[in-house]
Amino acid sequence: MSIPQWNLSELVASTDPQRLKDELEAMVDDSGKFADRYRGRIASLDAAGLREMLERKDELALRYEGVEEYCSLLFTADMTDPVANELNSAYMRAGTEAGKAMATVGIELGQLLMARPELINDPALADYRHYLERRARAAPHLLSEAEEKVIMTKDQNGIQVMSRLQSKWLSTRSFEVEIAGEKRSLGIGEVYAYMHDPERETRRAVYESIGSTLKRDELLWSDILRTIVADHAAMFKLRGYGSPLEPTLLANDVSAGAVDALMEVVQGNVDLCQRYFGLKARLLGLERLGSWDLRAPLPSTPDRRYSWQETKDLVLSTYRDFDGQLGEWAGDMFERGRIDAQVRRGKRTGAFCSTWTAGRSAFILQSYNGRLNDVNTLAHEMGHAVHAYLYTRAQNYSNCHVSLCVAECGSLMGELLLADRLKGEASSREERQDILVKILDGFTLSVFQEGFRFIFEASLYEQQENGVELDGKRISELWRAAQDRVYGDAVQWLDDSEWDWARFPHHYFAGTRFYNYPYTFAQLFVFSLYRMYKEQGPEFVPAFKELLSAGSSRSAAELAAGLGMDIESPSFWRKGMEQARAFMEELESTMEDQ
Ligand SMILES: [Zn+2]
Repeated sequence: MSIPQWNLSELVASTDPQRLKDELEAMVDDSGKFADRYRGRIASLDAAGLREMLERKDELALRYEGVEEYCSLLFTADMTDPVANELNSAYMRAGTEAGKAMATVGIELGQLLMARPELINDPALADYRHYLERRARAAPHLLSEAEEKVIMTKDQNGIQVMSRLQSKWLSTRSFEVEIAGEKRSLGIGEVYAYMHDPERETRRAVYESIGSTLKRDELLWSDILRTIVADHAAMFKLRGYGSPLEPTLLANDVSAGAVDALMEVVQGNVDLCQRYFGLKARLLGLERLGSWDLRAPLPSTPDRRYSWQETKDLVLSTYRDFDGQLGEWAGDMFERGRIDAQVRRGKRTGAFCSTWTAGRSAFILQSYNGRLNDVNTLAHEMGHAVHAYLYTRAQNYSNCHVSLCVAECGSLMGELLLADRLKGEASSREERQDILVKILDGFTLSVFQEGFRFIFEASLYEQQENGVELDGKRISELWRAAQDRVYGDAVQWLDDSEWDWARFPHHYFAGTRFYNYPYTFAQLFVFSLYRMYKEQGPEFVPAFKELLSAGSSRSAAELAAGLGMDIESPSFWRKGMEQARAFMEELESTMEDQ
């Protein structure tokens, strides 16, 4: 059975490039017409009128979703193809133009909800309730249309340049490394590949080179980061937010109380992380892990390859055994050519799943090499796909924008279900250990590593507020201090490893501060849900499907409440830690006579 390529033709009436570009132009035109129709009129809408506007807005978005999806997916499938490039640029341009045209609708809608908040709970708008709630919460922080336009224009040549500068600078550095006795000069992409090398000395050499190379450009990194911190600090105050974290809470649809409870549990369970690093050191035959060993593969990992047919059977049976309907939809993804798994030149690296709301389906891209990781990736992306099948059937378009904190529920659950199956079928201790280490590596990365990065970022704003000059040395001290609070002395660090912050792109993204905690949130949320599944068995499945079906129509807190849980209470998050502890004990039991 050959590895499939996806079929995108269902997305559009015609794949002729000129017709696609005409469609995108029509989208911009229709957006302008929509805005003109409602400009200055939104303040006087009643509930029925508002409902009509929202339905028309959804209909407009769905009308052009196929062509947008087609252009963006075609590009990810071959980024070297000139036609795909041209269509992708046209799609991006059209998206920006349509967005600008619609800006006034967002501002006027916010003003209406501030003036008449009772509309949010009007029965005529019941299926837009949470969407409107979120709009209402954001509204007091919006400035006037003219001010917003000036900010957008200035940011384009200001704060938004920083991320491009960082990635360009990093991608043009040379990293001098000695590998197997040979001196080499590597680019950042090659260096990253060697970070997971089975040879310990190679990993160490690569980490040393990264640290010393980053340190050399200290002035650049610290100046950029200080500028970003100062810009965000100025903007959150100008927009009337109470803290630098608050804008992200709105975007991620969670409360400060939930993030507080989450971080309290992360910090109260750092012993678990340190205990895992102790186990991993033993499996690697070491006294203590070096920072260059954290993601190291186990030496005993069996080099097993999976055919595409085996992978398909594994993923389908994983979902089918959990729930018949989800299993059927997973099958639909294969049958309808919604998966592009071939390895090809020019294809985007990594993997993703993209929702096609109008088609009540999704598309998956990955580069399949037949390793266990690839099987896991497909199970992960398939979780996103069945999540999409559920919410696109249950919700209107406005409720199909799932926040980061909830978006990984289907995918991470899928990974755990696959791990269950693989453990059941494993024929050796080494295979079982490999599966458990993969789960726990992922867990410690999302919960503890992302957790300490949250502490680091919060400390930057505290220091900035206290008037401390954030130079390279000070930033590195804060990085090290946050790291020590989580890792203790379970890890040995290299001299220059405190410069590691400089290489992470999310520190430089415009408009995306506190990027890390949604990943901590998602991982621990799903571990808690998986724990409930283990406790309740099949009874849990309908409640879980209801959670996924909600899309963005309810907040994470409301979704958890539906399962009888309170995400503002540390006890909910401790459930996730209990599950991690159970996996760790399982790993320990495989090591007893080792
Ligand atoms: Zn994912």
